[in-house]
Amino acid sequence: MAIDSTTLHLKLKTFFGYDAFKGDQEPIIRHLVEGGNAFVLMPTGGGKSLCYQLPALVMEGTAIVISPLIALMKNQVDAIRGFEAGENGIAHFLNSSLSRAQVAEVREDLLNGVTKLLYVAPESLTKEENINLLKEIRISFYAVDEAHCISEWGHDFRPEYRKIRSIIEEIQPAPVIALTATATPKVQSDILKNLRIQDARVFRSSFNRPNLYYEVRDKVEPEKDIIRFIRQNSGKSGIIYCLSRKKVEELAQLLSINGIRALPYHAGLDAKTRAENQDKFLAEEVDVIVATIAFGMGIDKPDVRFVIHYDIPKSIEGYYQETGRAGRDGKEGLCITYYSYKDIQKLEKFMQGKPVAEQEIGKQLLNETVAYAESSQCRRKLLLNYFGEDYLADNCGACDNCLHPKTRFDGREEMCLVIELIESLPEHFKLEHLSNILSGNQRHGEVLPARQAGTLWCRQRPRHPFLVGRNPSGANPAFPGKRHRELRPHLRNGARQGLPGEALRTAAGGGPHLLRRGRRRGR
Ligand SMILES: [Zn+2]
Repeated sequence: MAIDSTTLHLKLKTFFGYDAFKGDQEPIIRHLVEGGNAFVLMPTGGGKSLCYQLPALVMEGTAIVISPLIALMKNQVDAIRGFEAGENGIAHFLNSSLSRAQVAEVREDLLNGVTKLLYVAPESLTKEENINLLKEIRISFYAVDEAHCISEWGHDFRPEYRKIRSIIEEIQPAPVIALTATATPKVQSDILKNLRIQDARVFRSSFNRPNLYYEVRDKVEPEKDIIRFIRQNSGKSGIIYCLSRKKVEELAQLLSINGIRALPYHAGLDAKTRAENQDKFLAEEVDVIVATIAFGMGIDKPDVRFVIHYDIPKSIEGYYQETGRAGRDGKEGLCITYYSYKDIQKLEKFMQGKPVAEQEIGKQLLNETVAYAESSQCRRKLLLNYFGEDYLADNCGACDNCLHPKTRFDGREEMCLVIELIESLPEHFKLEHLSNILSGNQRHGEVLPARQAGTLWCRQRPRHPFLVGRNPSGANPAFPGKRHRELRPHLRNGARQGLPGEALRTAAGGGPHLLRRGRRRGR
């Protein structure tokens, strides 16, 4: 089916009330309407859902929207029903929350051809009765929302997503549009392969959020620092993410005691309290919500002015997604993350009980986050590189590393010491162990060089010396691998030849916090 631009604009105005499309919306919609497969990478707030809602409304048949977010489904269905008064059948959702009578109503509308959009949770899609129902209707296309759930490398892997392709084949073939707000090149190829849409046209929007400011702070007395920060930003809306429910409760309480209007949100609270706390935040009865990552999916509060990560996130994708909830209105959004290497060790311990494959992936994702936190490069550049995008400006003007570059120093001597240690040890030691020897926390026979290592590495800031200078893409030639066997030749060559170019600068730039740096910027 072909559709001209005037008609599309008319529909855009009638249904959504907009005069113009945003970004790539129009080409995406045309491509889909013309029967092509599409892969859409668009950051949160970019107008992703319109890319399938509008074509669904203009095409013949019913569009099947597969989405994992049940709460969000209801909101979207309500919104679409609002387009045409009295036409409730135009959009439905099918998930485990429906009663028998409600399911019967959905069924009737589908069979009568009234429904243009059907939202389905992946679990419901796998049910025999639903598959049989969908076989009986005409399907315009399939939209796979939050498509990164397909990939084990995504931050939100859901095994049922892997079954989508075979179910589509069982029901009836139709064009597929896969959409996600976060996908690294690896996740992207996983999605295309798994959905078998390698021919899909890829629409990639820029992931840059110029209005967001990124900063990583040392996790020294974070509570005090957070209270001070919120007081400086009094009356503004903000989200604080913690990894554990316990910390969420503690911190929310501490903030309240300090006169800050804050409430907790986590999966351990009953549904009523959760909904109440969320509503109070949306209605601005409280300024701050302290939450686990369970909070925020589908929350559309445009004026969130800050997002604080009390604990380091488990992956860069998660971090990007969560920080992305700040400044949706295009105005200021401050993203502060607290980092301490101890937290990483804790997270690694948590992972130990999990299956090996999951551990491996978890560790790699975590290493990427550590490298991001430790880096002295522009945070924006690192984030965008992570999503396969080049950021060419030398200074973004809105991250801690650009605004307050870390002190650089000549680290050749220290690097030589590292090499001496590595060469004097058998190969089977973990970096952790080497790091402890270097920081003077652990002795290892007489392997220590004559110079007392403990005086070299800063004791009270036990960061990981071997992580210096890496970046999330692992592109730094000085420290490409995890094992010191791999590091050795690079270190040796680098140090002896004076670690030329970027390697020296980055290693030195990342190094001082291990060695000489005091508290950053007087905090
Ligand atoms: Zn920057």
